[in-house]
Amino acid sequence: MTVLVTGGAGYIGSHMMYRLADMGEPVVVIDNLQTGFRESVPGNIPFYQGSVADKALVGRVLREHGLKTVVHFAASTVVPDSVRDPLGYYANNTVASRALFETAIENGVKQFVFSSTAAVYGQLDSEVVTEAMPTVPVSPYGWSKLMTEVMLRDAAAAHDLNYVVLRYFNVAGADPAMRTGQSTVAATHLVKAAVQAALGIRPKLEIFGTDYATPDGSCVRDYIHVADVAAAHVDALLYLRSGRPSAILNCGYGRGFSVRDVIGMVKAVSGSDFPVIESPRRAGDPARVVADSRLLRERLGWQPKHDDLRTIVAHALAWERKLLAAQTVSAV
Ligand code: UDP
Repeated sequence: MTVLVTGGAGYIGSHMMYRLADMGEPVVVIDNLQTGFRESVPGNIPFYQGSVADKALVGRVLREHGLKTVVHFAASTVVPDSVRDPLGYYANNTVASRALFETAIENGVKQFVFSSTAAVYGQLDSEVVTEAMPTVPVSPYGWSKLMTEVMLRDAAAAHDLNYVVLRYFNVAGADPAMRTGQSTVAATHLVKAAVQAALGIRPKLEIFGTDYATPDGSCVRDYIHVADVAAAHVDALLYLRSGRPSAILNCGYGRGFSVRDVIGMVKAVSGSDFPVIESPRRAGDPARVVADSRLLRERLGWQPKHDDLRTIVAHALAWERKLLAAQTVSAV
């Protein structure tokens, strides 16, 4: 059964595209290439450049390929950018998703997997976050995803559509086979920034806040390997195909590492003692965000294979080296 992957040229979407292709599942990709890379999608996978809000394009693609399943990654994903440009985020994430849902339902799509985020929870003062906890985002990004979850829930109740929403925690690492990885220029995420500092691409790394109520004063997050995130999507598809009910599930490992832990691991794996600077807190950062991921394991049978910070960092570093080598070659 062919699967439409929106945002398949992006970081997480490209991992899902490869995973489906590895399983022998036909895949079709739509991506507007605003942040994705055309070269992330191999030539044998049908690729359409455009917005998921383009009803004519999406409708044509759904009909041409007889698609009944959509995995929807396409979105803007940088929290501070969403604070600067909330209406842009609502347009690209919420309004565009609304159009996609409508086109999908009009064309008989039955299964939908949607990329959401732990940012829907906002500031929770809790050891681990369960799906039943209140959703009060503290950023336009979080709201843009939460509103999309609500639309999907209501549309699925009114139509013949089942869905799985996956709320990602801190996705990091790269394809173990090094076919794809986090390629965003000027990415702000910690693991990427730290491996760039290790390779001298950045002069230093800042720790944003060292006075949090955590064991070492820096923020704690649940870093999850991108390959295990892609695996959760495949499990979600199989779950939906077996006719089981819609679900909203956290996508994390259920254990936390501090910013200092991550930096220590990047230094150990890379052998580079790059400069680290203690800086003030970054606005809107909760002290601790760690998933309770029991539901994901129980309902989907998800069994992560890369729950190891060293592996996550090693793969992120290897991908960054590959990007650097490609740049050096093209500059020659
Ligand atoms: N962080 C940091 N220095 C950086 C980037 C991030 O100290 O250069 C911290 C950030 O303040 C947060 C954690 O690392 O506490 C994870 O941030 P990231 O942006 O990777 O993901 P988020 O949790 O914000 O989605």
